[in-house]
Amino acid sequence: MKKDIIRKFAAVAACFTVCAGTSCGKVERPDDKENVTVSGNDSATADASATTADGSSENQSELLTIPVTTDENTSQAATSAGTEELPVSGQPSEEASSQTTAGTTTASQVSDISLTFYDVTLTVGGSKMPIVTMSPETAENKKEIWTSSDEKIATVDSLGNIKAVGEGKCTITVKSADNPAVSASVAVTVKAAPEEAVADGVTYIQGILIANKTYALPASYNPGGLTNECYSAFMNLVSGAAADNINIYCSSGFRSYETQRQIYNEYVAKDGQAKADTYSARAGHSEHQTGLAIDCNIIDDSFTGTPEAIWLENNCHKYGFIVRYPKGKDHITGYKYEPWHIRYIGVEKATAVYNSGLCLEEYLGITSQYTY
Ligand SMILES: [Zn+2]
Repeated sequence: MKKDIIRKFAAVAACFTVCAGTSCGKVERPDDKENVTVSGNDSATADASATTADGSSENQSELLTIPVTTDENTSQAATSAGTEELPVSGQPSEEASSQTTAGTTTASQVSDISLTFYDVTLTVGGSKMPIVTMSPETAENKKEIWTSSDEKIATVDSLGNIKAVGEGKCTITVKSADNPAVSASVAVTVKAAPEEAVADGVTYIQGILIANKTYALPASYNPGGLTNECYSAFMNLVSGAAADNINIYCSSGFRSYETQRQIYNEYVAKDGQAKADTYSARAGHSEHQTGLAIDCNIIDDSFTGTPEAIWLENNCHKYGFIVRYPKGKDHITGYKYEPWHIRYIGVEKATAVYNSGLCLEEYLGITSQYTY
């Protein structure tokens, strides 16, 4: 069976020479970007935990802009209870509540609270604070009262800073001190902090070897080529694709620290460092150094949307790979969309990442940013 593998391997052998530090022949645009890797054995189970790095400001939840106001009952109660709080003009109907502020002269009670987000996922130790808007603007007393439904999961201070303390779900609520019937809530999910282990200078997060802009590999880390596990998984992927009449081949596989250093320096000389950093990894930060990353087929934007790219996106997880730099995640992965770059993390984890719809950094709750 070795022979069999070797034969299949011949087709992609060219790319492996890249590992040796030379170019692969046809495709010479080693994009070097990225990071990461797997610990090498699938046995390492890591539950998916996930998600947003704490503090990081850009999680999806912020996209929610719909002001969640009090539920109808309470708002009605609030409105009817108070005697004189109704503003003269724009009575805060459910719909108008977001922007309409009412009359200019009437000092009124708080009738609505909106937040910049209504759900958030944090890792233990992380924190995040929604911005609160109380309306109408003319309300005299906009004091906030914050409470947590379970302080073992998340606490909140008087300013609304939510801090994750233990795994689970809870609700953080803010009420108007002026009109306690008016409130808004944030659904909080707290995940375990990413389990991090460092061995010989290599970082593993939940068993997944990581090389990205935050986590570097030592110059000495050199598997010498794609790992056996990654290689045979890729051969399976190639066969699976062929069965669907899709031709996938390796254009660039392993790249050593030194090779990456040269490539990156060339790009910096050509485009300047700021630009080079958007598409090429600094030495030690390329996922190609892990021996677990492969650039398939055409390494440029013309690959986007091709049947091969679409096949990879929909199927590579079945073979243990993920499209490492998905569309729309540039600000999180640190790299633009690369439909050709796949990373081996094992079938179980790749499937979990695929199903999550998250990029690897989000899935693991880590960052990808240079600190130097
Ligand atoms: Zn790549």
